[in-house]
Formats: sequence, structure tokens, C-alpha cells
Amino acid sequence: MVKWKENKVLLLILVIISAVYCAPFDEDVHDNQLNDVEVFVIDNNQHVLKNDANLDAVEGEVWFLPKTSKPEYYRIHLDVRNIHTGNLNFNGEVTIHTEILQSNQNFIVLHSKFQQINELHARNLDTNDEITIIDHQFSPAYETVVIYFANQIEIGTKIALTLNYSSQLVTSAVIGFYQTYYDVDGVRKYVGATQFEEMGARYAFPCYDEPEYKAVFELSFIHDESVNVFSNTKETIQSNGDGTTTTAFKPTPLMSSYLNAFIVSEFKTLSNEELKNENETLVRIIAREDWLDRAQYGLISSIYALKALEEYVGFKYELEKMDSAMIPRKLNAMENWGILFYVNTALIYENDINTKSRYTQVFSGTRLIAHEVTHQFFGNAVTCKWWKYIWLNEGFAQLFQYTITDIVHPDWRMQDYFNIFAMQDRAFNHDATENTRAMTTDATTSEEVGLLFDIVAYDKAASVIRMFQYAVGEDIFRQTIKYYITTHNHGSVVSQDLIDAFTTIMQQNNFTDFNFERAFRTWELQKGFPLVHVSYINNTSTLRVTHQRFYDNASLGVNDESSWYIPLNFATSSNPDFEDTSISDYFMDYAESLNIAILPPAQNEDFWFIFNKQQRGYYRVNYDEVNWKAISKVLYNPETFNQIHVMNRVQLIDDSFALADAGFFDDYEIPFSILRYLHLEDDYFPWYVANKYINKLYDVFGLKNDDLNTFVQKLSSKFYKKFVVPGDSVMAYDSMIERYGRLLAYNLACTAGNEDCLLDVHLMLAYHSEPEYGIIVPRGYENFICLGLREDKQERYFYGIWNRMKNETDSGIRADLIAALACTGHEPFLMELLESSVNSQFDYTIEERQLILKSIFKSRIAFPAVIEFIKKFKSQIMSAYEQDFVTILTTIANGVKEINEQIEFNNFVLLSEDLKDEEVLILQRITAGNINRQKSWPYNRQMELLQQINIDYEFDLNDYYQIILPGSSRPTSYKVNIDINYFNLGHRNITGNVEMEIDFTQYTNKIYFHSFNQTISQLHAFDKVDGREIQIIDFRYFPQYETVMILFNRTFMPGNQINLEFFYEGWMQTDPIGLYSTRYVLNDENGPRNRYIVAAKFEPFRTRYAFPCYDEPRYKADFTFSIVHHTAYVARSNMMEKPPVRAGLFMLSAFETTQIMSPYHVTVIVSDYQNRNNSEYKTENEIIQRVLVPSDNYENVDHVLNYSIDALKALIDFTGFYYETGKLDSVMIPSEEGTSGNVGLNFYPPSILYINPETSSHHDLLKAYLLISNFVSLQFFGGAVTVDWWDQIWINEGFAHLFQHIVLDKVHPEMRIHDFMTILSMHDVAFQKDNRNTTHEMWYQADTTEEIAATFDHVSIQKAALILRMLMYHIGEDVFRATMKDYLFKFNHQSVDTFDVREIFADNLKVAGKYDYNFEYSFSLHEEQLGFPLVSVTFNGSHFELQQWRFYSNQEEALIDCYVPDGEQYNPSCNHTWYIPFNFATEENPDFDDLSSEIFFDNEKGTTSQEDDYEIPAQDVPVDGHEIGKWHIFNKQSIGYYRVNYDDINWNALINALSSPKYKIIHPMNRVQLIDDSFALAEAKYFDYERAFNIMKYLVYENDYFPWYTANRQLKILYDAFGEKNDELNTFIRTLSKKFYQKYQLSSSATIPKEILPDRFGRELAINLACTSGNEQCLTDTAILVHNFAINGQSIPAGLENILCFGLRGSGKSEEFNKILEILRVKTDLNVRMKFINALGCTDDSELLMSFLEESIFTGNVDYNYTTAQRRAMFTSSLQSKIALSTIIEFLNENEAAARAFYSYNLNSIMTFVANSLKTEKEQEEFTNYIETLADLSTTQKRNLNAIVSENLNKQIAGKVKRFMEIIKEIELEEPKEEEETTTTVQLTTTSTPRQTTAQSTTISDSTTVSTTTLGASSIGIKSLTLILCIFIVILLKN
Ligand SMILES: [Zn+2]
Repeated sequence: MVKWKENKVLLLILVIISAVYCAPFDEDVHDNQLNDVEVFVIDNNQHVLKNDANLDAVEGEVWFLPKTSKPEYYRIHLDVRNIHTGNLNFNGEVTIHTEILQSNQNFIVLHSKFQQINELHARNLDTNDEITIIDHQFSPAYETVVIYFANQIEIGTKIALTLNYSSQLVTSAVIGFYQTYYDVDGVRKYVGATQFEEMGARYAFPCYDEPEYKAVFELSFIHDESVNVFSNTKETIQSNGDGTTTTAFKPTPLMSSYLNAFIVSEFKTLSNEELKNENETLVRIIAREDWLDRAQYGLISSIYALKALEEYVGFKYELEKMDSAMIPRKLNAMENWGILFYVNTALIYENDINTKSRYTQVFSGTRLIAHEVTHQFFGNAVTCKWWKYIWLNEGFAQLFQYTITDIVHPDWRMQDYFNIFAMQDRAFNHDATENTRAMTTDATTSEEVGLLFDIVAYDKAASVIRMFQYAVGEDIFRQTIKYYITTHNHGSVVSQDLIDAFTTIMQQNNFTDFNFERAFRTWELQKGFPLVHVSYINNTSTLRVTHQRFYDNASLGVNDESSWYIPLNFATSSNPDFEDTSISDYFMDYAESLNIAILPPAQNEDFWFIFNKQQRGYYRVNYDEVNWKAISKVLYNPETFNQIHVMNRVQLIDDSFALADAGFFDDYEIPFSILRYLHLEDDYFPWYVANKYINKLYDVFGLKNDDLNTFVQKLSSKFYKKFVVPGDSVMAYDSMIERYGRLLAYNLACTAGNEDCLLDVHLMLAYHSEPEYGIIVPRGYENFICLGLREDKQERYFYGIWNRMKNETDSGIRADLIAALACTGHEPFLMELLESSVNSQFDYTIEERQLILKSIFKSRIAFPAVIEFIKKFKSQIMSAYEQDFVTILTTIANGVKEINEQIEFNNFVLLSEDLKDEEVLILQRITAGNINRQKSWPYNRQMELLQQINIDYEFDLNDYYQIILPGSSRPTSYKVNIDINYFNLGHRNITGNVEMEIDFTQYTNKIYFHSFNQTISQLHAFDKVDGREIQIIDFRYFPQYETVMILFNRTFMPGNQINLEFFYEGWMQTDPIGLYSTRYVLNDENGPRNRYIVAAKFEPFRTRYAFPCYDEPRYKADFTFSIVHHTAYVARSNMMEKPPVRAGLFMLSAFETTQIMSPYHVTVIVSDYQNRNNSEYKTENEIIQRVLVPSDNYENVDHVLNYSIDALKALIDFTGFYYETGKLDSVMIPSEEGTSGNVGLNFYPPSILYINPETSSHHDLLKAYLLISNFVSLQFFGGAVTVDWWDQIWINEGFAHLFQHIVLDKVHPEMRIHDFMTILSMHDVAFQKDNRNTTHEMWYQADTTEEIAATFDHVSIQKAALILRMLMYHIGEDVFRATMKDYLFKFNHQSVDTFDVREIFADNLKVAGKYDYNFEYSFSLHEEQLGFPLVSVTFNGSHFELQQWRFYSNQEEALIDCYVPDGEQYNPSCNHTWYIPFNFATEENPDFDDLSSEIFFDNEKGTTSQEDDYEIPAQDVPVDGHEIGKWHIFNKQSIGYYRVNYDDINWNALINALSSPKYKIIHPMNRVQLIDDSFALAEAKYFDYERAFNIMKYLVYENDYFPWYTANRQLKILYDAFGEKNDELNTFIRTLSKKFYQKYQLSSSATIPKEILPDRFGRELAINLACTSGNEQCLTDTAILVHNFAINGQSIPAGLENILCFGLRGSGKSEEFNKILEILRVKTDLNVRMKFINALGCTDDSELLMSFLEESIFTGNVDYNYTTAQRRAMFTSSLQSKIALSTIIEFLNENEAAARAFYSYNLNSIMTFVANSLKTEKEQEEFTNYIETLADLSTTQKRNLNAIVSENLNKQIAGKVKRFMEIIKEIELEEPKEEEETTTTVQLTTTSTPRQTTAQSTTISDSTTVSTTTLGASSIGIKSLTLILCIFIVILLKN
């Protein structure tokens, strides 16, 4: 039964939610008083029990029946034929079959109440003899009747006792057989219903009315035919023909009397009869016929609950049917077996979504049904033996109402609701008091029995059972309850039976973790519950656990020795697994403490631990202070708070506040340190708990307390946002948790004054006057009306609600609306409402009149209106409210929350003549008490803490994931002085001071800027205008955001300016980040030694590492910088230095003020460098350029100095802009990572700064030229004009990368740098990455550090530059230059975004009269889309048809996204199209130099919106004078950023055209393009590789470097797979490269000529290809060169070191070999040594190779100082030799141990190197045989080594490698015909930039590292850095 009204749970929520603001809504509140039905009416007129009975009962005690007889069967017949009329009388006849259990017995005692016995019979059931009855006597005190027999009856005799009696229905209470009623259309309908628990059966019939007397009951009724009777079992109805009907019921199972029930009514049934199958139970709803259609949900819930219960317990419901009856005026429910009685709200639902309690009703009703259905097993089938064990019934029913509902509604989070409702709010609350009781408590009086139906029996028992459910595990728990039910079915039980069930099942499962009985008894038999203390024992891996009883007043527990056996579990920061709720440890009762080892051990101060995972255990937890702090820290961090399970967040709030409230803490700091995290929380459950504690504060401080409201508003803003009412007002369809969440979120946010919230509720109000504009407020959300009215003054809204209230008939809703009206914030409305309460014209009940006065304190303006009202209507109030004056004034006094209210009220009462002095005193005490409470502990303390948190929130960032400053202020000028005094000794501390001038741009009282790990002090702010100091309230540092926030005591307006000054302390870094300290080795005449320097690398956001600043590119300002350092050093910065000021050991270097620039461009270097400069020879118009380097390299920098001068000139010349910084320094930085370009000062590594065209390799030269060009270009592009934010970093990087090529091209046009850009930036980098889905857009989201670092990549640098270059050629260089000039002048000193860039181009195009389409849009397609286009060209004789789609290298990605290569299918959702500049040359008009172009645009885009209508964008281009079969080529010189495909006819024509000496008619860069496109298209499966090879085979004629470079990328794939020994491959390459090599073939003098850059690359590549493939001429040439080198000392140019390798091949080279070996021995320079080591391993003379291998383990008398790395390199170099394997085997056979020792490798490592080098089957066989002989290798190692070789060989027969080889075996290469090449020479020049193809010039490249370094980063992002670093390493190894 549910004695504790189930709705109370729900009510509690609502009361808590609305306690402060509005009256509770739940209708049950209003008839709450009816709930107290447990009043037993004793009729004192009845006579007393005879004293001679064998009984010793005491008056007032529950009298236990003497165990002298036991009933087996009842037949009960009741005549109720008149009760439907309201008549209370009924007659009954009961026959009881009972067995006599005691001898010498001449009486039987039965329970009986209110019965008049008319006849009594007894007979012996065995003999059928009549037994004489001599008397019967009632005892009203004991509620019994004793029946006396004439003779004693023998033990064991079974008798039938028949009593014929008269009685009356009870009307005064809901007990026994009682009358209730309902009204239909004004007609009263009477109902007879029963409530037998605990002792009500005796009212209906004499019986053994104790639960343990189970019997079979067979009932029948005679009643009026207009009514029905329903009872426990299935009925049979028979008309008697006289207007009456007899209804008979099947016998019940064995059951207790209190479970009988019947209802006599006009009710009808709704059932599942039609729908159910035969195994299912008949389930019916019994209710008023006119309500049955609203009972569907009740029916379904009952069916589901029963099914879920049966399945969960594994036990079948026994009866044929289960009825659920709606009982009028019932307030709760009763689980009578087979006929459950309910309050109507549990079963009857309005389906209208606006119905008031749709959700609350569904929620409580569903759970109530689950509870009562559970009783069918727990209570009915198995019954507690006596009421002291009622928790066995109710504990399970209470637990299973959650469990069963959870099964039916898994989304309701019922287990979580259990925590907050059952455990925290009820069990913990009650069980923490002194007055609680143990679960099993004796009760002897009926009053005591009544009291047993309490929170302990229900919620505590459920909590305890649940804890053990988790302790034994779900599986054992379910076995246990099945066993328990099955074993005790039809029986009655005590707690031992449950314990035995657990013990038995645990034993069966071998679960021996703990002694269940011992554990459980501590919970069953003791009051209260434990508080577990956990503390971490410092510097150990141990947590120490103790416990004590938790009281709501800590002092009560001082002498309490209660002790529990506690199942424990916990999570820690190192193992934050909250999901596994199994038990890990048990705390033994009476143990002093428990030590728990934690693994892994605590690691740092952030270590935390939390016990009671998900709070499934019935105990609270306290921790040591350090842990509470760690928990509050992890909670307060938006990144980490949800590491803690949401139900533990709930627990932490509840436990911490409960501990503080109870006095376990001496402060509220801990609970508030937990609570403050809630601004991150939007889950309902933590908020539910927090609201309990917040409401206590509202209770004390009222609604108008600013601090409290500010706190709640901030705390709840995220929670509110989650539940913002959607615009389409679908609030009515909220899920269950949404509904509760929304109610709570709105109440909190609106009450606290959240403006968005108030606007929302305002819209809800509008609905009542203008429904079409407003938002429907569903029933149950009426509090929203209150919230809305508080801030509203519109009559139509107020009166709209008032009218609704007047028309409302439901008293509950009327009350809600009255309460809502009282919230009004408009005084006239308030007065009108108050006055109406005393106006008899208004149709209020007295309660409603009183309610008006009570409710007005929810208005913020209650005072002084209420005083005025009371003055004016004093007498009317008393009569209207039927209350005396003091009572009324007491109501008002309780509403006083502020001192002015108190004064106003006290003045009033003092002047009231009607009040007695003592009454005045009482009233004044009330108000004083209210006010004093606010000043007293703990409330004042909580308010203090909350104010502190409010300040914290002031400092909080708006968005936790942003690192972008808010933009409310900006700096205009900085003065920064940094002191690094002893850096030269390695000290890294910085002290500094900063003055910032700051402009405000928005209203604000704070500023934010960046700072990294600095301590700021002496912070002052001054008004810039009047110089007065501005008070700073506080400032904070937020390490996670690297941000400082300063809070002022005034709000600034836009335009206000301040000066901010402060000192700070910080640290230099050691890595090249921010301001850092590093070292270089100075090697001068004094020998090598370390020298400290300090340098800076600030991009992208490391300026904050050096000094606090607005560290974003858009915050440009001027900087006046100075630095204090040791006097032996000099400092250089962006600007020219001023004369230094010396003071003792130190000096101050100050610099001129910079131009306005971004903070990341600030830089400094403090060093002992010297400078080389142009001051001697520069012209007046030129600026000073200096190169700062260590003195030992002072002479090596002229080339860089001169190039930097030329580059800057070229940049100025091209752009027409000016350089304003006054000087430009190029400074050496020892590590590559320090490379960076800054305004006026660029940092370069030595490899760049010391280049020399005479001695440096072509690779180094190209890299240096490009990098210097880049850093010069960024003086304008990035320096003068800066990108606004990193998401468009391409605006810096793309322009700088393009201009590095433009500038270099202007200075060195012979370098063909644009062609390099095509092969290196486009083909090698941009195309290779931009053809995958892993690429990104140019405009790319970048908010976090990682994201920003990742944007410096192929898209921002190469792709952007290529798009800009395409644009430059398309619009023409003149227009492009004009645009750039305009751009630089217009945006100098500013930051820009892409819209600025687009606009400046569009404007200039307009000026130039170009472009008739939307430029901005066309540009956006390149910028904002992934990838690049493939243009497909088909020719039909008169037109080219162009189509475009995105190019993918990967078939699958294309399928996923857009395109299927057969061209038929196209996924329109992809829709990638571009505006593509195109041009073409044809065989008839082979003009490749005119680079002007037309635009192929996405003309179809937008014309069709239907997906299936989508067509590939296409464009027809008419062409004259071109025939089918003649070739055409699109994208002249491969300038456009796209690929091209053609129809088969054209591909064949192109192959043809190339296959003759006339191939040169096609531009070399289009030859490059054809090779690159054809291989890419083949890879993407547009056609077979055969076509690509057919294009490539023309290379037999080709001697230009660039096509060869591109071809080599494919050829390298073959060499990688097959090695250098494959004859077919070598033959192919040798033939292909023959002519290419001829170009570089040496004259007889055998010296290598000086060459320009492309030819140096060409020579390298040609030699590599020819010599590798066995070109005899090449081998001869290189042999001569090596001979000349080794013997004659002739040099080999840098970058051509491979000559040494090739030249040592073949026989007869021992002289050269040995000479080089000698040189190796004496050289010490690492790079030189590696060069020779790499060469010597190439020999294919096995003797020489053996001697070289032996050199690697050389141990002779002379020490050559080989390092381990060099020895290893000798070994790996040997692997290049074509005869390596057999020689190495021979070598190892002799020297294995020595090799291991000298290389410091194990054998397996050595053999792994060998395995990796093998590429042929012959080698495989030899290798496999050899390693078999090696005993030191394990079988696994051998298997793995063999697998490596197999893998190498398998690669040759897989994928494209296989296809490549197939093709080159087939393909026939023509020998190049020696025709005159000049016959069709084409003038190859471009219109825009001067470009020449020099047919006779020669180049070299490097075949092993095909990709040349691509330097383009103006400053180098992390990715680029890695790339560059890798390349350097490769180069290093190669050399
Ligand atoms: Zn119950």
C-alpha cells in the first residue's frame, strides 16, 4: 500500500521548485488534510472484553490473537443492496473454517469491529455436529469478539463458524468498508469501497485480521442491479429478477485478510481482453464509464508493469486477472491482491496536451502503478509476518517502482531519480534525525503500527536493499528475489527469510566476498546511516577510510557508537571509471579504519578520489581538505568537469551541503567550491539538488537580493540555455526530464533576472491575450505566468490571466492562477488584486482570499502596497478572511525580508491601536528574526562566499573554448622594457615593465589581454585625458587561457582611453618559443666555446611569453621597446637602436618606435654578433641592411646581404609600396626551429646565411633564395598588412609564398623560378594533398593552439599562392600590380580578412574594365571549397565541351563525395564547382605564350535545385580552324591550379605529337603537365597507366630538366621497388635518358662547367638516371671525374657527390678507392666524412668492399676516430653495392662479434638492414639460407627477416608497381631521331613575367630525394618545421 502519499514525492519537487515563488500546483495539495486518514475510531459504548479470557492484553495495545486456532477458509456473503443510495447499512454472513490448535479451549477470538451479531452457529466440520455457542462478547479496545462454546473443543478439530451480522459503512475515514462518492452532473453517486490494510478487514467481517493468518476467501454479494461489485478474483454475475443481482467470486489463493477488497459502484471496465494472448493476465481498469476513454494509459502502464515485474523476478502472477480501480476521493493506492485501488489521477489522464498535470501525473502515476503491481508479489504472495517487518513489503515496492519503471521507460533515468527522491530527499533526510528508527522495529499499539509506514519502511529499506543489490551484483540479486518469492509464496516472512535467501544464493554462486547476514543486520537493526571519511595518506599509495553515524547535527554523534558493514567503491583521477559500480572494498563494522591501496598511486596535487560511485550506496562521504580542493578544481574546469559522473556531481553537492549544514565542516567554503561549477552544468539532476540549497537562501534573503540573483543568474545561464523554449512552442511535447529541467531552469533564470528568460515568459503571457503571437503555456507550467507577470505592466496580460482565473472551475488551477497574479510587478494591479480579496463581489472562497495575501510576497513590490492595503481595509480583511488581525499581520511579518520593509511594518504595528503591546512585540520579533537571520551564521557566511564567486564569475571568459579576446578594448601603443641581466650566465628570469595605451570600443568594466606564466605587480591605470588614477578592483590570471583580466570600479564607454602600467616577472624559454635563451659555438682564434644569446620567436602567439599584451594579429599598435642586458652584448630589434645607456655591468638598449604592427612581429636578439652591412655603398634611397653573425663567420655573408638588398628592391619595385622600417637585419640563429621573419629583423639558420654560389649545393642555394625572398616579402605581406585571424592565414602566407617567387624571378630570371613553383609547390605539394578528403579549406576554422599551428600548411602556403598566381596571370600582371599597390597602401598598419582582399581585387578589376562576373563569389569558391578541379575537355569538331568536377586521387573518396570516373554518375550533393581561368593551344595554333584566359564558370550551379536534375557544369567553347585528330592542350604552361583530361582522340594525338623531334612545339611546362596529369588521372582510374607511359616515352627526346623532374617521380617508384639490379628497368631508363644525359656529357677535359640553377639540378638528375641504369658514357665520365678528384685533386661541385659513387663502380678502381679511403681517414668534418662513406660503399669490387667493411671495424694502431654512427654508416653504405650480399655474408662470418660491438647493434638489427636492401629472388634465397645458419637468431627473428624480404618482393607484383613493370616490358622506346631541332622552334616567353626556356642550358637533380625543399613559410609553422627538419636530415645523410 502506499500510505505515504506517492504524490508527495512529486509534490516535494514542486514545493521545492516553487517554494519561494509560487504556491505549489499539484491539486493534491489542496486536499492535503484528507490525507491523514489513519485515525482509528473507537466506539466507547461497546463493552469490554471479559477478564476471564485467557488473555493478558493491556488496554490500548494491539492485541495479538491467541494462537489457539487458525482459519483456513472464509465464505463471506454481503448484502449491500441499498448502499448505492447512500444508505450505510449492510448485512453479512461469514462462515469461517478454522482449526483448533490448543486443547482445553472453549472459545475462539476473532477480530470484529462495528458489527452487530445476529446469529451464531458452529459445527464440527468432520462430524457435521452442531457445536453449542453460549455467548459472545465484544472488546472495542481490542477490536475483537470472543465466542464461547459450551464445551471445550479438542485440539485438531476443524470447525465451521457462521456469523450473521449487521454493520454500517464507515464514513469518517478511509478504513474498512467505507462509503465514498462522486458527482455526475450534480447527481451524487455513492460507492462502497474497502481499505483493509493494516487492520480494516475486521470492519467488513469478523476475521483473523493479522497478516500471518492466511486463508482462502470466497466472497459473494447481493446488490442492486444498477451497480457492479468487483473483488480480488474473477466474478460471476447472476440476476435475481427482483432488481437485485448476485455477484459471486472465485476462491482466492491463500492470503492475508488485509488484502481482501471490493468495490460496489456503477463503474465499468476497460480491459486488454481483446488484445491479450492466452498466457497473459487479464488486466482491467475499473472506473466511471465517462472516464474510461481516459484510462488507456493507466491500463497500458499496468500491463507493462506486470510484464516487467514477472520477467524481472522470474515468477508468474498467479491470479486470473488484475484489476485497477479508480476510487473516488482516495488519495493514495492500495495493492489488494488482484484488485488494486488507486487515486484517480494515477489511472485517469487527460490526453489534451494543455492538461495541467500531464507530466507530473504520468510520472507519479506510472511509478505508483509499478509500486502497487510489485506488491502483488512482495506483500501479497509473500507477506510480512507482522507489521514490524512491513519494510519487506514496502522496501521492495518502493525500490521496484523505480526498477520496473526504468525497464518500461529507460529514458526516464529512474535510477537517478531514486538518488534524489528516495535516497537524498527522503531517506537521508529522515534517517539523519534523532527520531529515526531501525528498519525492524517492534510495534505493539495500533498507533505504533501506523507509524511504521514511514520513510524508513519505504525509502530507507529500498535504499538499503538497492545498496546490497549493487554489492552482490545484479545477477545474484535477481536469483535471490526469485528464490525468496518462490520459496515463500503464500507464506509470511520475517527478515531472516530474506537474509537466508541472499545467503543461499550467494553460496550457490560461490560469492564469498562478505557475510551477508552480518553486513545486512547492521543496516536492518541500527538507526541512521554512516558518514564515510576518506583521506589520502601523504606520500603513500593508501586511502584511509573511517566512518561514523551521520546526524543532521554533528554534535549528536559524539557518543554514538553505531557501526556499519559498508560496501565501498571509488573512482580516482587516474582511474576515473564511474560506470563500473561493482564493489571493490568492504568496510567491516566496528573496524577502526580501512586502508585501501590505490593503483596507480597518486601522482600530483590534482589527484582526486570519489567514493560511492553514482551514489548507489546508502551513505554519505567526507574527504580530506586536499581532496575536496582537487575535486572542486576538476569540476570547475570546463574541459574536465564531466570526468566526474553526473550522479557523483549530484552527490558532491548534496553531501557537501549536508555536511556543512550539519556542522561537519566549520565553514561553507567546500560546498560553495563545489557549487560554483554549476555554470558549466546543464543536467537536471545536479540542478535539482543545488536548487534545494539555493532555495534556502531565497527563503532567507527574499527575491530581491542582488548578490543572490547575480549568482543564480550566472550559475544557471547554461542550464537555462539548454531549456530555452523553442520558437515553435513545442514545449508541450517535452520529454519527462526536459519538463522538470525546463521548469527548474526557468524558475531559476527568470527569478534571478535573466533577461532572455524574462522575454520568453513574456511571450507566454502574450498567449493569454493574443494566442496567435504567444507561446502556449502547457498545464503544469503555470509558474511561468508568475515569472512573466513580475516584469510586466501591460493590462491586457494581467487581465487576460485574471479573466482566465475567473472562468476556471478547477480549484487547483484557480489557486495557481491567483498565485501567479500576485506576482505582478505593477503596483496598481497588485492593489486591485488585494482589494478584490476583501470584495464580496468576487466569487472567491475564503481560502482563496487568504491565498491572495499570502501570495503577494512573490511580487517584488509587495511592500509598501500591502501596508497601504492593510491600513485601508483593516476591518474588511478580518471578516473576509475570517481571521483575526494578529494572524493577518503575522502573514505579512513573515514576508518581511528587507530593513526598509521592517521599518515600514514596525511603524505600522506600533501605530495600530488595536494591537496589544505583547502582540506588537511578537510581530516585531518575527520581522527582526527574519532580518537577523540574514546577518547570522550560516546565512551571512554563505552570502559572503557567494559574493566572492560572483567576482570570480566577473573574471570568467564568456566562452570557455575561445582564445579570442573579446574586442571591447584595444591597445594603441606599448612601451616595453625587459631586463635579462645575467642571461649570459645562463639565467633565464625576466623582469619587465609595460605601459599600454588602451582604447575602449565597447561599454565594459574590464579588459583582457594575454600573459604566459608571468607575475604581474604594481598594476595601475590612469585616465588618459585627466591623468587620474582609476581604481582596479581586482585582477586575475587564467592559466588555461593564458589570459589576464582586470576589473575596474567603473564602466568605460567607447572612446575612453586609459594608460595601464605594471611590472612583471617571467621566464625565458630554452626552446625557440617566445623569448628564449640559446647558445652557439663560437670557433675563432681562441678555439671553440659556447656563447649565450637571447632571441625571439613570437609567431603565431608567443609574444605573451615575453611580455603581457593583446597577443592577436589584429591588435596592432606601435611598440617602443628596450632591453637591459650585460654590457658585453648588443641588442637588436625591429627598429634602429638608439645610443645605449651603460650602468656598471649592464646597459640599456632602446629602439625607435615601430610602425603600427601586430605583436607577433615584435622581435629582439641579444648577442655578441658582428654585422656586415651596406652602409658603405648603399645609395641614399636605400635602407641599411645588415647581416648579424658570430665573428667567425663574418666574412661569409656577403652573398646573402646582397641578395636581401636585391630582393627588397624587387619587392618595392613590383608593388610600388615603400619600406618604412628604416633598416632590415638578417640574423643568424643556431637552430632551424628559430627561423622566423619579422618586421625589420629576420632570423636565418647558418645553412641559409652562409651560402655561396661557388661552394654551396644547388639545393641549398634554391632553399636560401626562396626563404630570404619569403622573409623580405612578408615585410609587406604580413608585416604592413596583417591577417585578422589565423583562420585566413593564407592571406599572409599565400601572398608571401607567391611573392617569394616573384621577387626571386625578378632578381634571377634565369632560374625559371615559376617553373620550379609549378613542379615543387603545385605538383609535389598542393596537388598531392589537396586531392584527398583530409585536406581543408583555405578559410579554415582555427581557434585552438593546435588548430592554429595546423593552418600553416600546404593549403595556406602553396595552394593559396597558386590560386593567387593563377589569378595574376588571368587578370594580367599590370592589374595585379595595381591591386597589390592599392592593397598595401589602403591596409597598411591594419589587419584584413578575406573580404578586404576580395573587395580590393574586385575594385581594381572594375577600374581596369575587366570582369563581367562576380569576382568575389568566384574567389570564394576557391577559398571556401576543398580540393581543386579537373577540367574535362571533349572536342566535337567545332566546339570544346568543358566539364568540371573535383579531382580525387582516390576512387573511394570520390565515390563517397562526388564523382564516379566513368562520368555517368555524379553525386549532386557534392556540388564542387569553380570559376576556372582557361586557355588552350592547338596543333594549328600552338601559341603557348599568350597566357590570357577566359573563365569556365559554374554556369549550371543554381539553375536546377532538384538533385536528380543536377548536371555537371558544362560550357561550350567554339574554336575555329581546329580539326578532330589534331592535338589541343588546355592550361598553358600549367599555370592554372587544376588538372585536365581529354577525350581519347586527343590523348592519342598528344602521344603522337610528342613522339617525334617536333615535340618541342609543345611548351616544356605543358610537357611537364601532360606527364603529371596523365599519371594522376591513371592513378585516379580515369584510364590505364599505359596512356601515361605512352606520354612519357617521348622523353627519349627530352633534355629539359622540368619534364624529367616530373617523370622521375614515377621512375623512382620503380627503382624503389625493384632496386638497381633489374635489367628490364635499367634498359628502359637507360634508353629513355640517353639523350638527357647527352646534354651533360663531358667534354674531353672532364671538368664540370659552371651552370645556372636549373641546369645544376638537371645535371644531377641526368647523371643519377644514366649511371644508375648503366649508361656506359656516364660511368666513363664519372670514373674520369673520380680519378681526377682522387688523384689530381680536382673538385666535385657541391650537390653532385653521387659522382663519387658512380665513378667508383666497375673494376679497376682500387687506386681511386684507396685514395678516397685515405682522405676519409684524415678528414674530421662530419659532413665531409659522410660524403666519402656514402661513396665508398658503391664499389662493386668485392675485395674493395670487404676492405671497406673491415674499415668499419678498424682497430689498427692508428686511431681514425670513427664514431659509432660513422661505423654504422659504412656498413649501411655497403648495402648500395651491387655485390653487397655475398660480401657482407663473408664479412659477417668472420667478424660478426666485432660488427655487433662496433656498430652497437645486435645481430637481428644488422640483418634487418640487410633484409631491407634486398630486391631479387636470388638474393632472397641466399639470405634465407644464410640466416638459417645463424644460431643467435630466434625462429621468430628469422621468420620476420624472411618476411621483410618477401614483402619487398611482393611489392613488385602488386598495385601500380606491377602495372608499371608490365608496361615497361611491353613498351617500345624509339631511338631518338637525330633531326634538326630548330625546324619548329617556338618562342617560349610569357607575356607577364619574363621567362625563358634555355634549350642549351643544363640542370641536375637528385634522384633519391626527389622532393626539393619547399620553403615558403614566412615564418614556419610546426608542420613546415618538421618537414624542413626532415629534409635537412635527409640532406645531411646524403652528403
Ligand atoms: Zn506500498
